[in-house]
Amino acid sequence: MTRDPQELWFDDVARRIGLADGAAFAAAFELRPYRLKQIYRAANKELLGTIDEVSTLPKELRAALLARGFSFSSVEPIVMQRSGDGQTTKGLFKLHDGNEVEAVLMEHYGDRTTVCISSQAGCAFACAFCSTGQAGYTRNLSSTEIFDQARFFARDLASRGKRITNIVFMGMGEPFHNYDAVMGAVALLHDPHGLGIGHRHITISTVGLVDRIARFADEGLQVNLAISLHAPSDRVRKTFMPVNQKFDVGEVMAACERYVAKTNRKVFFEYVMLGGVNDTDECAKELAALMRGHLYHVNLIPYNSTPDGPFAGSDEARIWAFAAILEGAKVPTTVRHNMGRDISAACGQLRAETQPKAHKATA
Ligand code: SAH
Repeated sequence: MTRDPQELWFDDVARRIGLADGAAFAAAFELRPYRLKQIYRAANKELLGTIDEVSTLPKELRAALLARGFSFSSVEPIVMQRSGDGQTTKGLFKLHDGNEVEAVLMEHYGDRTTVCISSQAGCAFACAFCSTGQAGYTRNLSSTEIFDQARFFARDLASRGKRITNIVFMGMGEPFHNYDAVMGAVALLHDPHGLGIGHRHITISTVGLVDRIARFADEGLQVNLAISLHAPSDRVRKTFMPVNQKFDVGEVMAACERYVAKTNRKVFFEYVMLGGVNDTDECAKELAALMRGHLYHVNLIPYNSTPDGPFAGSDEARIWAFAAILEGAKVPTTVRHNMGRDISAACGQLRAETQPKAHKATA
């Protein structure tokens, strides 16, 4: 499934203003292919704010498009929070139907920047430690609703002479539960006529949907795959990740082995450190046994505790002791630096703060 990103973008843009697709949009405004190219480029490469800023377009056309409600972006920033150290910026974005999603910009030392984007409003997988999971599922985002979160931060960075270097699908939602729109968003992010982000700089994180991992392997893309494993055994994983009833640890690991065999690409495993739950020496040894000898990398993630959840993060000494067991078993391991803790930058936390109850009902 490879779709032309420009076509995909105009299809989504057209639907937002009540037209069937990009072809209907072009017909309605009598836009020739070179005009479409100009508009697409102005929005996604030059990163202009509105159609009115595109000085190469006739004034009447700009006015007609504006009158119809045409806009470059499908998401509207409503809250922005910057961490004390200035390295993390978290945004809450409103969609056309009032739903809200979050995206986070992380500016690392040097020129590296990562934007974490959402693929769904809410999430259906109900991981017990995750605020988004606790709030329930509302709807899928379109490809442009996903892409436009990155576009927003690309504009913000451009105003400071910087650009997005990395994208992670680690915001709200389960990317493989909205597979086609996520692949469309990847095409938009990658498009050299737009942001031009290399596939190797994009990471999709999944709760472990086995059938979709297989499909993703068949895409033949250089996009990175990360698995939210969080526990090395069914005994532990099933206590806080309901998805384990559908795809257990053995099935997820088998899917990863097939993925590596097919793509020869490394798989990243995310492991949120929950005090007294999955952070014991025994868990570390079990995890090492699962990982050893494969093209796998473990990322240990300090837990951002959520106000109403029962979990507490492991203390730092425990995280390093856990990492030492993995490293002792020669498992490549990284302890993730916790960014944006002072602005509750973990998945779903900002929306949970601004709309604590409203979204619970949609579960
Ligand atoms: N549904 C996908 C992607 C969204 S969550 C997935 O499960 O991978 C992205 C990552 O953030 C996941 O590894 C998730 O477990 C983790 N996460 C969620 N809430 C967190 C929190 N409060 N603190 C730290 N990590 C969290």
